[in-house]
Amino acid sequence: MINRKKVIQSLKENPRTTVLIIGAGINGIGTFRDLALQGVDCLVVDKGDFCSGASMASSHMLHGGIRYLENGEFRLVKEALHERNNLLRNAPHLTHSLPTTIPIFKWLSGILNSPLKFIGLLDKPAERGAVIIKLGLIMYDAYVRGDSPMPGHRFDHRAKALKKWPALNPNLLFTATYYDGGMDSPERLALEILMDGEKEGDHARVINYLSAAGADGDQILLKDELTGEIIPIQPQIVVNAGGPWIDFINQDISSQSNYIGGTKGSHLIVNHPELRKAIGGHEIFFEYVDGRIVLIFPYIADHVMIGSTDLRIDDPDHAVCTDDEIDYILDMVPQIFPHLNVTREQIVFQFSGVRPLPVAKGTTGQISRDHSIELIEKSKLHPWPILNLVGGKWTSYRAFSEQVTDQILDRLELPRKTSTAHLKIGGGTSYPITDNSRDAWIQTLAESNKITCERAKTLFKRYGTRASEVASYISKTGDFPMDYLEGYSVGEIKFLVENEMVTRLDDFLLRRTKTAWVGKLSEESIKELASILGESLGWDNKYQQSELTRSLDILRKRHAVKI
Ligand SMILES: Cc1cc2nc3c(=O)[nH]c(=O)nc-3n(C[C@H](O)[C@H](O)[C@H](O)COP(=O)(O)OP(=O)(O)OC[C@H]3O[C@@H](n4cnc5c(N)ncnc54)[C@H](O)[C@@H]3O)c2cc1C
Repeated sequence: MINRKKVIQSLKENPRTTVLIIGAGINGIGTFRDLALQGVDCLVVDKGDFCSGASMASSHMLHGGIRYLENGEFRLVKEALHERNNLLRNAPHLTHSLPTTIPIFKWLSGILNSPLKFIGLLDKPAERGAVIIKLGLIMYDAYVRGDSPMPGHRFDHRAKALKKWPALNPNLLFTATYYDGGMDSPERLALEILMDGEKEGDHARVINYLSAAGADGDQILLKDELTGEIIPIQPQIVVNAGGPWIDFINQDISSQSNYIGGTKGSHLIVNHPELRKAIGGHEIFFEYVDGRIVLIFPYIADHVMIGSTDLRIDDPDHAVCTDDEIDYILDMVPQIFPHLNVTREQIVFQFSGVRPLPVAKGTTGQISRDHSIELIEKSKLHPWPILNLVGGKWTSYRAFSEQVTDQILDRLELPRKTSTAHLKIGGGTSYPITDNSRDAWIQTLAESNKITCERAKTLFKRYGTRASEVASYISKTGDFPMDYLEGYSVGEIKFLVENEMVTRLDDFLLRRTKTAWVGKLSEESIKELASILGESLGWDNKYQQSELTRSLDILRKRHAVKI
């Protein structure tokens, strides 16, 4: 990835761009990659780091959304299921199949409610029984028959279910098990899609910490969030991919809108070996006492993620996980595993974000999760049309981005050159699929770069086939282990800083790696990292100290990291 300073220089030298994408969450990033592949001159900017908004706060599920069937969102579910399958094939290094189990406590309940909900006569979620879940899963399987890399659903009676999950609430009647997808690091997946777009050439520019702050005639004024400098840009078309911030962005670039009615969702990551054992590698997806569907998710390094909440919120900048939400989430576990208690001491990380849902009345769970492109035509105030990307799911980002790109290509009267449907992503390119080919690939990586097989395996697990770039870098610079951060070397960190536009210390801790999410950090390791980043990025002591203070503050206050 090109160095941030060079991108700023290029924006000053060439302020014209055909498409300016505001917001580098997954929808802005997906659109950027697709436009770049079609040869369209495009620039994507974000006021923070890449994938630091809603796209970082997701439940990490790649799913059709079985729950959305009862809201009548059949198109969305079908599209998302196909996209889930595409992602599992295109990014096998960062995604995985996810066995998902629903404990069921009733036979018939929900049968009457679902049609009522579909026609809008029922506002409150109601308990779903075995029959309605069976019907949903039959549809789920039917939508992807012949296209799914995973088996179909299965029902187990109480006795069999309790044999497999002995800690489950013994009042259950059945369990239903089906397969969805999961991603361990949405942040790395998004970054690799972004880098694939940037690789297309000089016509595709990306930059973080540059916000759309205002407009002046035909210019959009971009503000460098690190220096305060204003950089004017002249776009032909604007894509507002600001997620929950869409209306705020429109207000700043001089066009009022009222598209977003966001809801906040919070999750906890806990270190709880008994709970991890109790879920047996499955995601447990269940109906909470208030009728909401919640999840207990097997997370990396034997952790467990529990979530989420769904609360209306006006300003996405204020989204933090509150004490009440923590209590609400912790209380979920004993409902399903009555003998397991999760305490605040077991929380290693918490996170919160705002779903960019369309403005709607009614209970939050029933607001559509589908996406739409809302157009604001050009006017005397702004000579560029604005395409607003409202709603959507992480899972279906590619299809949404394709629809946006097609609209832009129509406007520019350009043909589509290539499809992204089967395009491999980053380290998913030329990925060895079988166990034997994987072992051979890792062996070759180790031998050709003179690193141990164990180290080659770790790099392959983190970066897929892009591990060859990392290994080649560290074979030249040396692979000296960090003093305080196990599993990482100084060379690997320098590679990430130089190649992945790490701009602030927290970019590294929260998004280029998952170190902050699974209790891997200490004050010493953060200091060590700050000094390596400082050396690579030319920070003086004062700046390094301020980055350290800022990161510790973010980790402690926003994410409850105990350091
Ligand atoms: C709690 C929760 C759970 C979810 N779970 C799932 C799930 O399991 N599976 C799934 O498929 N989907 C899930 N989703 C939905 C999915 O994550 C989002 O729909 C998707 O990430 C939205 O992406 P986006 O790019 O539109 O928005 P965002 O990711 O929010 O990106 C918008 C970007 O705009 C930037 N920005 C804001 N203002 C400006 C400005 N003035 N200038 C420049 N940049 C600006 C922000 O910094 C941000 O990075 C979940 C969402 C949430 C919140």
